[in-house]
Amino acid sequence: MQIEIKEAGKTYIENGQEFTALEGVNLNIEKGEFICLLGPSGCGKSTLLNAIAGFDPVNCGSIKIDGEEVKEPSTRNVTIFQNYGLLPWRTVLSNVELGLEPMKIPKEERRSIAENYIKLVGLMEFKDSYPRQLSGGMQQRVAIARALAVDPDILFMDEPFGALDAITRMKLQDDILEICKNEKKTIIFVTHDIEEAVFLADRIVVMTPNPGKVKSVVNVPLTHYRDRTSADFLLVRDKIFELFNLKSDTYIEYNI
Ligand code: ADP
Repeated sequence: MQIEIKEAGKTYIENGQEFTALEGVNLNIEKGEFICLLGPSGCGKSTLLNAIAGFDPVNCGSIKIDGEEVKEPSTRNVTIFQNYGLLPWRTVLSNVELGLEPMKIPKEERRSIAENYIKLVGLMEFKDSYPRQLSGGMQQRVAIARALAVDPDILFMDEPFGALDAITRMKLQDDILEICKNEKKTIIFVTHDIEEAVFLADRIVVMTPNPGKVKSVVNVPLTHYRDRTSADFLLVRDKIFELFNLKSDTYIEYNI
């Protein structure tokens, strides 16, 4: 098992009052799994992602990656955010090379790795463009190329397609599966969009707020690539929708 989460919780003190953002999370994630953290705003998805990624570790329970307690971000893992995080004064090529720069790889090799990933995301003809010259979808593809170029063990994605229009979003959902098909990365992907989770995930971690908790972990019993209009797809989507409507706040074992 690659990621082991036991009774993980996070509290913040706000205006002198304790606030529980996350409570009692138990979850094991295997290498190569595509996991979606799904739930409405405020249910602790980003808190959980940031805790696993080491940006803001939990203050009760434990989170281990490869047997080691997470205390800080690791250079073995990369996070992609909704706002792309590209440096505006650097070209596409230079942005993708960014993560490789501290690695003491010779300049030519660095360039060739970066170009391979730019090819993979279909942006070779834009390699000398600046982020402002690209659409939102293209900028997010640059961010994906930059993340993959450093060959991370785990890719964290915090609502990466949240700022994109519906059509670009669907295209990037297709792309991320195609791009990662041969990469075999563990992906932890935050979304509040049920269909996005059903389209992408091997397992969906269904979360509910007040306090942020895992309500259920759902295995998606569909093979990739999934047809968003098929009866099976719609059945899984509807079952997950039902989970959010259930009043019980206890953990639910769920098999579709
Ligand atoms: P989600 O990603 O599901 O929208 P978050 O994990 O961002 O939810 O937030 C969960 C709850 O924790 C929210 O109510 C949010 O206001 C609170 N929270 C998150 N980060 C902090 C912080 N640094 N200080 C205080 N409260 C926080």
